Amino acid sequence: VPVADTAAAAPTKTLPDAQTVTSVTHWSESLFSFRVTRPASLRFRSGEFVMIGLMGDNGKPLLRAYSIASPNWDDELEFYSIKVPNGPLTSKLQHIQPGDEIILRPKPVGTLVHDALLPGKRMWFLATGTGLAPFASLMRDPETYERCEQVIMMHTCRTAEELTYGRELVENLRHDPLLGELYGEDFASRLLYYPTTTREESPFMGRITDNLTSGKVFADLNLPPMDPATDRAMICGSLAFNVDVKAVLEGFGLREGANSDPKEFVVEKAFVGDGI
Ligand code: FAD
Repeated sequence: VPVADTAAAAPTKTLPDAQTVTSVTHWSESLFSFRVTRPASLRFRSGEFVMIGLMGDNGKPLLRAYSIASPNWDDELEFYSIKVPNGPLTSKLQHIQPGDEIILRPKPVGTLVHDALLPGKRMWFLATGTGLAPFASLMRDPETYERCEQVIMMHTCRTAEELTYGRELVENLRHDPLLGELYGEDFASRLLYYPTTTREESPFMGRITDNLTSGKVFADLNLPPMDPATDRAMICGSLAFNVDVKAVLEGFGLREGANSDPKEFVVEKAFVGDGI
Protein backbone atom coordinates (compact mmCIF):
# COMPACT_ATOMS: atom_id res chain seq x y z
CA VAL A 1 0.00 0.00 0.00
CA PRO A 2 1.47 3.38 -0.94
CA VAL A 3 2.40 5.43 2.11
CA ALA A 4 0.32 8.40 0.95
CA ASP A 5 -2.88 6.30 0.93
CA THR A 6 -2.33 5.12 4.50
CA ALA A 7 -1.76 8.69 5.68
CA ALA A 8 -4.90 9.93 3.95
CA ALA A 9 -7.00 7.18 5.51
CA ALA A 10 -5.83 7.92 9.06
CA PRO A 11 -8.20 10.12 11.04
CA THR A 12 -7.04 13.72 11.62
CA LYS A 13 -5.26 13.89 14.95
CA THR A 14 -7.02 16.36 17.19
CA LEU A 15 -4.90 18.36 19.61
CA PRO A 16 -5.60 18.18 23.33
CA ASP A 17 -7.93 21.05 24.30
CA ALA A 18 -8.32 21.87 20.59
CA GLN A 19 -10.34 24.85 19.39
CA THR A 20 -10.95 25.75 15.74
CA VAL A 21 -9.87 29.06 14.24
CA THR A 22 -12.87 30.87 12.70
CA SER A 23 -11.22 34.07 11.40
CA VAL A 24 -7.88 35.86 11.23
CA THR A 25 -7.15 39.58 10.61
CA HIS A 26 -3.67 41.01 10.05
CA TRP A 27 -3.40 44.61 11.28
CA SER A 28 0.26 45.29 10.54
CA GLU A 29 3.53 43.49 9.97
CA SER A 30 3.72 42.80 13.69
CA LEU A 31 0.09 42.52 14.83
CA PHE A 32 -2.86 40.25 14.12
CA SER A 33 -6.08 39.13 15.76
CA PHE A 34 -7.98 35.88 15.46
CA ARG A 35 -11.14 34.23 16.68
CA VAL A 36 -11.62 30.62 17.76
CA THR A 37 -14.50 28.45 18.89
CA ARG A 38 -15.26 28.68 22.61
CA PRO A 39 -15.28 25.54 24.76
CA ALA A 40 -18.85 25.08 26.00
CA SER A 41 -17.67 24.82 29.60
CA LEU A 42 -15.40 27.89 29.58
CA ARG A 43 -16.56 30.66 31.92
CA PHE A 44 -14.29 33.68 32.45
CA ARG A 45 -14.38 37.21 33.77
CA SER A 46 -13.71 39.87 31.11
CA GLY A 47 -10.04 40.88 31.45
CA GLU A 48 -8.68 37.42 32.31
CA PHE A 49 -6.07 35.43 30.37
CA VAL A 50 -5.62 31.77 29.35
CA MET A 51 -2.78 29.64 28.03
CA ILE A 52 -2.98 29.02 24.28
CA GLY A 53 -0.62 27.60 21.69
CA LEU A 54 0.25 25.03 19.09
CA MET A 55 1.81 21.58 19.10
CA GLY A 56 5.61 22.03 19.00
CA ASP A 57 7.94 20.16 16.67
CA ASN A 58 8.93 17.95 19.63
CA GLY A 59 5.31 16.78 19.99
CA LYS A 60 4.79 18.80 23.17
CA PRO A 61 2.35 21.72 23.41
CA LEU A 62 4.03 25.13 23.05
CA LEU A 63 1.85 27.40 25.18
CA ARG A 64 1.88 31.12 26.03
CA ALA A 65 -0.32 33.38 28.17
CA TYR A 66 -2.90 35.35 26.16
CA SER A 67 -5.51 37.80 27.36
CA ILE A 68 -8.97 37.00 26.06
CA ALA A 69 -9.85 40.07 23.96
CA SER A 70 -13.53 39.20 23.54
CA PRO A 71 -16.13 39.89 26.24
CA ASN A 72 -17.48 37.05 28.36
CA TRP A 73 -20.88 37.06 26.58
CA ASP A 74 -19.37 36.31 23.15
CA ASP A 75 -19.97 32.85 21.59
CA GLU A 76 -16.39 32.80 20.31
CA LEU A 77 -13.04 33.81 21.81
CA GLU A 78 -10.90 36.56 20.27
CA PHE A 79 -7.17 37.09 20.74
CA TYR A 80 -4.94 40.01 19.73
CA SER A 81 -1.36 39.00 19.09
CA ILE A 82 2.11 40.25 18.46
CA LYS A 83 4.29 38.57 15.80
CA VAL A 84 7.72 38.25 17.44
CA PRO A 85 10.43 37.66 14.81
CA ASN A 86 11.74 34.15 15.59
CA GLY A 87 9.36 33.93 18.56
CA PRO A 88 8.86 30.22 19.34
CA LEU A 89 5.05 30.46 19.27
CA THR A 90 4.16 33.57 17.27
CA SER A 91 6.46 32.82 14.32
CA LYS A 92 4.08 29.87 13.72
CA LEU A 93 0.84 31.23 15.16
CA GLN A 94 0.87 34.18 12.73
CA HIS A 95 0.26 31.70 9.88
CA ILE A 96 -2.94 30.14 11.26
CA GLN A 97 -5.95 30.07 8.92
CA PRO A 98 -9.67 29.53 9.48
CA GLY A 99 -10.25 25.79 10.03
CA ASP A 100 -6.88 25.26 11.77
CA GLU A 101 -6.75 24.10 15.37
CA ILE A 102 -5.03 25.74 18.32
CA ILE A 103 -4.62 24.47 21.88
CA LEU A 104 -6.53 26.37 24.56
CA ARG A 105 -6.29 25.43 28.23
CA PRO A 106 -9.65 26.41 29.71
CA LYS A 107 -8.33 27.84 33.00
CA PRO A 108 -8.80 31.62 32.96
CA VAL A 109 -6.95 33.75 35.55
CA GLY A 110 -5.86 37.36 35.99
CA THR A 111 -5.93 40.55 38.02
CA LEU A 112 -7.56 42.93 35.51
CA VAL A 113 -11.07 42.22 36.75
CA HIS A 114 -13.75 44.47 38.22
CA ASP A 115 -13.80 42.41 41.43
CA ALA A 116 -10.29 43.69 42.27
CA LEU A 117 -11.43 47.33 42.31
CA LEU A 118 -13.64 49.30 44.69
CA PRO A 119 -16.66 50.97 43.05
CA GLY A 120 -15.76 54.28 41.38
CA LYS A 121 -16.97 56.94 38.99
CA ARG A 122 -14.31 56.85 36.27
CA MET A 123 -12.36 53.85 34.99
CA TRP A 124 -8.99 54.39 33.30
CA PHE A 125 -7.69 51.62 31.02
CA LEU A 126 -3.95 52.23 30.46
CA ALA A 127 -2.21 50.10 27.83
CA THR A 128 0.71 49.92 25.47
CA GLY A 129 0.88 47.62 22.44
CA THR A 130 -0.95 44.30 22.83
CA GLY A 131 -1.66 45.33 26.43
CA LEU A 132 -4.90 46.58 24.86
CA ALA A 133 -6.22 42.99 24.68
CA PRO A 134 -7.80 42.67 28.16
CA PHE A 135 -9.42 46.08 27.68
CA ALA A 136 -10.82 44.99 24.31
CA SER A 137 -12.73 42.49 26.44
CA LEU A 138 -13.64 44.85 29.28
CA MET A 139 -14.74 47.69 26.96
CA ARG A 140 -17.21 45.31 25.30
CA ASP A 141 -18.65 44.07 28.60
CA PRO A 142 -21.82 45.93 29.71
CA GLU A 143 -20.78 45.29 33.35
CA THR A 144 -18.01 47.88 32.85
CA TYR A 145 -20.62 50.58 32.23
CA GLU A 146 -22.78 49.35 35.12
CA ARG A 147 -19.80 49.80 37.43
CA CYS A 148 -18.76 53.33 36.47
CA GLU A 149 -20.02 56.41 34.69
CA GLN A 150 -17.10 56.89 32.33
CA VAL A 151 -14.39 54.76 30.80
CA ILE A 152 -11.20 56.32 29.45
CA MET A 153 -9.10 54.12 27.16
CA MET A 154 -5.51 55.40 26.89
CA HIS A 155 -3.51 53.34 24.39
CA THR A 156 0.02 54.09 23.26
CA CYS A 157 1.97 52.52 20.40
CA ARG A 158 4.95 53.55 18.34
CA THR A 159 2.97 54.18 15.14
CA ALA A 160 -0.61 55.06 14.16
CA GLU A 161 -0.90 51.76 12.27
CA GLU A 162 -0.33 49.86 15.52
CA LEU A 163 -3.35 51.64 17.02
CA THR A 164 -5.75 50.45 14.29
CA TYR A 165 -7.24 47.38 16.02
CA GLY A 166 -8.09 49.40 19.11
CA ARG A 167 -9.32 52.42 17.17
CA GLU A 168 -11.76 50.37 15.06
CA LEU A 169 -12.95 48.52 18.12
CA VAL A 170 -13.69 51.73 20.04
CA GLU A 171 -15.37 53.40 17.04
CA ASN A 172 -17.63 50.39 16.49
CA LEU A 173 -18.48 50.23 20.19
CA ARG A 174 -19.39 53.88 20.46
CA HIS A 175 -21.99 53.29 17.74
CA ASP A 176 -23.03 49.84 18.98
CA PRO A 177 -26.85 49.62 18.76
CA LEU A 178 -27.12 47.37 21.83
CA LEU A 179 -25.03 49.60 24.09
CA GLY A 180 -26.87 52.63 22.66
CA GLU A 181 -30.17 50.96 23.56
CA LEU A 182 -28.97 50.07 27.05
CA TYR A 183 -27.33 53.36 27.91
CA GLY A 184 -28.93 55.94 25.64
CA GLU A 185 -27.69 57.96 22.71
CA ASP A 186 -25.03 59.67 24.78
CA PHE A 187 -23.24 56.33 25.27
CA ALA A 188 -20.38 57.63 23.09
CA SER A 189 -19.61 60.22 25.77
CA ARG A 190 -19.22 57.45 28.35
CA LEU A 191 -16.37 55.76 26.47
CA LEU A 192 -13.52 58.22 25.92
CA TYR A 193 -10.55 57.23 23.78
CA TYR A 194 -7.07 58.73 24.02
CA PRO A 195 -4.68 57.04 21.59
CA THR A 196 -1.12 58.34 21.37
CA THR A 197 1.96 57.52 19.36
CA THR A 198 5.54 57.79 20.54
CA ARG A 199 7.51 57.62 17.26
CA GLU A 200 5.20 58.71 14.47
CA GLU A 201 3.63 62.20 14.26
CA SER A 202 -0.10 62.03 15.06
CA PRO A 203 -2.82 64.30 16.54
CA PHE A 204 -1.97 63.11 20.06
CA MET A 205 1.50 62.03 21.01
CA GLY A 206 3.53 61.02 24.01
CA ARG A 207 3.84 58.46 26.73
CA ILE A 208 0.90 57.71 29.03
CA THR A 209 2.97 58.60 32.10
CA ASP A 210 3.89 62.02 30.63
CA ASN A 211 0.31 62.79 29.57
CA LEU A 212 -0.87 61.97 33.10
CA THR A 213 1.82 63.82 35.04
CA SER A 214 1.70 66.95 32.82
CA GLY A 215 -2.10 66.98 33.12
CA LYS A 216 -2.41 67.09 29.30
CA VAL A 217 -4.88 64.21 29.11
CA PHE A 218 -7.14 65.77 31.75
CA ALA A 219 -7.11 69.10 29.91
CA ASP A 220 -7.69 67.47 26.49
CA LEU A 221 -10.64 65.41 27.79
CA ASN A 222 -11.99 68.09 30.10
CA LEU A 223 -11.70 65.85 33.16
CA PRO A 224 -10.49 66.60 36.70
CA PRO A 225 -7.14 65.06 37.75
CA MET A 226 -7.22 61.51 39.12
CA ASP A 227 -8.62 61.27 42.63
CA PRO A 228 -8.73 58.10 44.78
CA ALA A 229 -12.32 58.95 45.76
CA THR A 230 -13.59 58.74 42.16
CA ASP A 231 -10.98 57.22 39.82
CA ARG A 232 -10.08 53.58 39.21
CA ALA A 233 -7.44 52.22 36.83
CA MET A 234 -6.21 49.05 35.19
CA ILE A 235 -2.69 48.90 33.73
CA CYS A 236 -1.36 46.47 31.10
CA GLY A 237 1.95 46.88 29.31
CA SER A 238 5.64 46.04 29.49
CA LEU A 239 7.21 45.63 32.92
CA ALA A 240 8.88 49.06 32.65
CA PHE A 241 5.59 50.69 31.63
CA ASN A 242 3.73 49.05 34.50
CA VAL A 243 6.31 50.19 37.06
CA ASP A 244 6.27 53.78 35.75
CA VAL A 245 2.46 54.07 35.58
CA LYS A 246 2.06 52.49 39.00
CA ALA A 247 4.29 55.22 40.48
CA VAL A 248 2.26 57.92 38.72
CA LEU A 249 -1.04 56.52 40.03
CA GLU A 250 0.37 56.24 43.53
CA GLY A 251 1.35 59.89 43.17
CA PHE A 252 -2.37 60.65 42.68
CA GLY A 253 -3.08 58.69 45.89
CA LEU A 254 -4.44 55.50 44.27
CA ARG A 255 -3.51 52.15 45.85
CA GLU A 256 -2.94 48.77 44.16
CA GLY A 257 -5.71 46.22 44.73
CA ALA A 258 -6.11 42.49 44.18
CA ASN A 259 -8.94 39.99 43.75
CA SER A 260 -8.87 39.33 47.50
CA ASP A 261 -8.31 42.98 48.48
CA PRO A 262 -10.01 45.45 46.11
CA LYS A 263 -8.57 48.98 45.99
CA GLU A 264 -8.16 51.71 43.34
CA PHE A 265 -5.95 50.18 40.63
CA VAL A 266 -4.67 46.83 39.33
CA VAL A 267 -1.72 45.87 37.13
CA GLU A 268 -0.86 43.00 34.81
CA LYS A 269 2.08 42.51 32.48
CA ALA A 270 1.31 42.20 28.78
CA PHE A 271 4.34 39.93 28.26
CA VAL A 272 7.53 38.80 29.96
CA GLY A 273 10.80 40.47 28.90
CA ASP A 274 11.71 43.87 27.48
CA GLY A 275 9.35 43.79 24.51
CA ILE A 276 10.08 44.24 20.84
P1 FAD B 1 8.43 34.72 23.53
O1 FAD B 1 9.63 33.81 23.58
O2 FAD B 1 7.30 34.42 24.40
O3 FAD B 1 8.82 36.19 23.51
C1 FAD B 1 10.01 36.68 22.89
C2 FAD B 1 10.23 38.13 23.28
O4 FAD B 1 9.26 38.94 22.62
C3 FAD B 1 10.04 38.37 24.77
O5 FAD B 1 11.29 38.39 25.41
C4 FAD B 1 9.36 39.69 24.87
O6 FAD B 1 10.29 40.66 25.18
C5 FAD B 1 8.80 39.97 23.47
N1 FAD B 1 7.31 39.93 23.50
C6 FAD B 1 6.53 38.85 23.78
N2 FAD B 1 5.23 39.18 23.71
C7 FAD B 1 5.18 40.49 23.38
C8 FAD B 1 4.11 41.40 23.18
N3 FAD B 1 2.83 40.99 23.28
N4 FAD B 1 4.41 42.67 22.86
C9 FAD B 1 5.70 43.06 22.74
N5 FAD B 1 6.76 42.25 22.94
C10 FAD B 1 6.50 40.98 23.25
N6 FAD B 1 0.92 38.49 23.84
C11 FAD B 1 0.06 38.91 22.90
O7 FAD B 1 0.45 39.09 21.75
N7 FAD B 1 -1.26 39.12 23.19
C12 FAD B 1 -1.76 38.95 24.44
O8 FAD B 1 -2.96 39.14 24.68
C13 FAD B 1 -0.86 38.53 25.47
N8 FAD B 1 -1.28 38.37 26.74
C14 FAD B 1 -0.37 38.04 27.73
C15 FAD B 1 -0.81 37.95 29.04
C16 FAD B 1 0.10 37.66 30.07
C17 FAD B 1 -0.37 37.59 31.50
C18 FAD B 1 1.48 37.42 29.75
C19 FAD B 1 2.48 37.09 30.82
C20 FAD B 1 1.88 37.45 28.43
C21 FAD B 1 0.98 37.78 27.41
N9 FAD B 1 1.38 37.87 26.06
C22 FAD B 1 0.50 38.29 25.11
C23 FAD B 1 2.75 37.47 25.64
C24 FAD B 1 2.70 36.02 25.15
O9 FAD B 1 2.55 35.18 26.27
C25 FAD B 1 3.97 35.60 24.35
O10 FAD B 1 5.12 36.08 24.97
C26 FAD B 1 3.92 36.10 22.91
O11 FAD B 1 2.83 35.48 22.25
C27 FAD B 1 5.19 35.77 22.13
O12 FAD B 1 5.40 34.38 22.14
P2 FAD B 1 6.65 33.75 21.41
O13 FAD B 1 6.77 32.33 21.83
O14 FAD B 1 6.56 34.00 19.93
O15 FAD B 1 7.89 34.58 21.94
